Amino acid sequence: MNPPCERQIGALHIHSSYSHDAEWPLERCKEVFKREGYHFLAMTEHAEGLDPERAAVWLEECDRLSDPACLILPGFEFSVGRQIHLLGFGVRKLLRGRSMEALIDQIHEAGGVAVWAHPVPASLNLIYPAAEALDGMEIWNSRYHKGGGLPLRLLRALEKLRETRPAFHGFAGIDFHKGDQDRRLSVAVESPRSASAILEALRAGQFMIQRGRLRIPATGSLSWRQQIEMALHTNFFRTESNALAP
Ligand SMILES: [Zn+2]
Ligand SMILES: [Zn+2]
Repeated sequence: MNPPCERQIGALHIHSSYSHDAEWPLERCKEVFKREGYHFLAMTEHAEGLDPERAAVWLEECDRLSDPACLILPGFEFSVGRQIHLLGFGVRKLLRGRSMEALIDQIHEAGGVAVWAHPVPASLNLIYPAAEALDGMEIWNSRYHKGGGLPLRLLRALEKLRETRPAFHGFAGIDFHKGDQDRRLSVAVESPRSASAILEALRAGQFMIQRGRLRIPATGSLSWRQQIEMALHTNFFRTESNALAP
């Protein structure tokens, strides 16, 4: 019998101390996020600085700490050149693709979801050739986009990309490195609570980005009411309440 399809609250783009610039051991990440109401963590350790032996230890720890109430999904963040970081949600082994295209292919071959991390407006033009192959990009990264607001430029870029690539979706990432970071940006995924089902739902864009009262579908399409609020500048992106409230 298949497990029931429910709403899984997930934290995307999480670094533990297996990443060279992150603070918390994996176990602490898991404990704290679980206590805060998350049902899964999509880890994205920096691939640079990890060798295959250490990656194997990390993977074993991810699997050991994962529990039915709070799943740990292994994954990596890969650097491509100087400007681009690519997330591979669900990737369980180090990959060494040299170009963006090669890496995206390798992520998919490894069963992962390929998402462009924290795009900056200056490099948005770089994404268009690769957008055919990518599963999406972060339209909201709470470490880069400080001040708690969704960056509208990225929402508009998503809209443009989806005109020719409807399978391309917008993602939200906490990009968690340090304990004092805001952890209230989540995704609500409609899926059974299993790693493979959650990854498929992420790939298919079957989730909502949520922070406080704000709900944005992975398509980036705002409701007419949200569009009016945005047009009227009525604090559309006020997001102070609890992100995990139903
Ligand atoms: Zn990054
Ligand atoms: Zn990161």
